[in-house]
Amino acid sequence: MLKFLKQVGDYAKEAVQAGRYIGQGLSVTFDHMRRRPVTVQYPYEKLIPSERFRGRIHFEFDKCIACEVCVRVCPINLPVVDWDFDKATKKKKLKHYSIDFGVCIFCGNCVEFCPTNCLSMTEDYELSTYDRHELNYDSVALGRLPYKVTLDPMVTPLRELVYLPKGVTDPHGLPADAPRPGARPEDLVEQEK
Ligand code: SF4
Ligand code: SF4
Repeated sequence: MLKFLKQVGDYAKEAVQAGRYIGQGLSVTFDHMRRRPVTVQYPYEKLIPSERFRGRIHFEFDKCIACEVCVRVCPINLPVVDWDFDKATKKKKLKHYSIDFGVCIFCGNCVEFCPTNCLSMTEDYELSTYDRHELNYDSVALGRLPYKVTLDPMVTPLRELVYLPKGVTDPHGLPADAPRPGARPEDLVEQEK
């Protein structure tokens, strides 16, 4: 009889302890519900890509000298440079230029090595299409101005974590002029003076 009572007592003790642990766990869970969600509500809110973000490539037809350096440094020799030799001027004349973004890995080699800076990386990453052939951008499509989240009236642009002021981890409701930590390039120029 005594043994049975001890067993019941132990069981009750363990049940109370387990209940306490569950209560502690739930209190942490409910505490998280009091906090503001840090979710970025795409497509109404979008993060501003960083300064060195490698998005869709921009191309300037008039600057290209058809040297084909971009083709040689590309891991898959992707850019298509179509040119003719102009006998009168003894120079290469660019006819067409295209990059297929369905194949491009956005490594940025072509931008890095182009001698005339006619290629540049934009912050445009919304390139989805229903047809893969639409991703093959010709020189006109490559020359279009890129989409910028900061210029879209439908979108609230949010800063990425490294661009937030020191100690801040949530970009919501941040004043536009709040300074980010670390020296900006213009600050470094000022310091050098
Ligand atoms: S490297 Fe630049 S200049 Fe040369 S072909 Fe490519 S885009 Fe044109
Ligand atoms: S970004 Fe890289 S993969 Fe894409 S075209 Fe340029 S070099 Fe080629």
